[in-house]
Amino acid sequence: MSSEIESRAVAAYLGLALGDALGATLEFMTPREIVAQYGVHRRIVGGGWLRLRAGAVTDDTTMSLALGEAILACGGQVDALSVAQAFDAWMRDKPVDIGNTVRRGVLHYRQTGQAVVVMDEQAAGNGACMRVLPVALALFGKEEAHVREACRIQAQVTHNNPLSDAGSFAVARLVQGALSGMGLAPLHAQVIRPLIEEQPVFAFRGRRVENPSGYIVDTLRAVFQALFDNDSFESSLVDVVNRGGDADTTGAIAGMVAGALYGLEGLPGNWLASLDREIRVRCTEQARALLRYSPQFQAVGPR
Ligand code: MG
Ligand code: MG
Repeated sequence: MSSEIESRAVAAYLGLALGDALGATLEFMTPREIVAQYGVHRRIVGGGWLRLRAGAVTDDTTMSLALGEAILACGGQVDALSVAQAFDAWMRDKPVDIGNTVRRGVLHYRQTGQAVVVMDEQAAGNGACMRVLPVALALFGKEEAHVREACRIQAQVTHNNPLSDAGSFAVARLVQGALSGMGLAPLHAQVIRPLIEEQPVFAFRGRRVENPSGYIVDTLRAVFQALFDNDSFESSLVDVVNRGGDADTTGAIAGMVAGALYGLEGLPGNWLASLDREIRVRCTEQARALLRYSPQFQAVGPR
């Protein structure tokens, strides 16, 4: 049972990186441009506006790794100051891309020493949600209020907005539900329905979301459509990234949930073979390390 959880946790982290690497090729393209250039995009080939090597990842994965290191350094706790320091160091490392809201948050920390940005109606970007996975893994099995608070703490270092908070928490809960073996129907009933009750803008049935922007509502509506209308890791990810727009981030978020849901066996072998080797190792090792702080993982005992 613990090895089952561990394998799903590793698959979630690799899923995040695979979705990022697959989607980055299409970031900021429209579905029409994608069809003209690739037909259906389903291979990890790099390129895109960042001119990536095949298998390279972007901020979605590297910020998650930075957050995860901060959590590990604090013994499994999500501490705002440590997270801000980790993001500051991450930005000094000159990552390939940085979202505007993230940059503003890190600069705010550098200038004020404050690890929480002020509440901002305009800060409902997807940048806090895309990196929430390490919180979900370290706090797997903690009570919901505690998980919600930890998601909020990591988010508000850069994004202080109720929609970003609600969306990030829902994605963490989807990952945790999938780690415990839940399928799509219970995840919908126990995570998506309460989210939509709290924030009705996340309702995702109806018109297909194409060209999703970095607005958390657009992003998550596209991700939810792809997750709940498909039944495999590969088809969910191919569906979401071919919608274009913020494709590396929709890929990353769908990837972490679908990874936990379908497990390691669900990850396409040729995608894994293409993924940057160092990233593959770091994601795998960090998933295992974070899980050691999870009460639910500890409860089922070591292998
Ligand atoms: Mg990115
Ligand atoms: Mg992006």
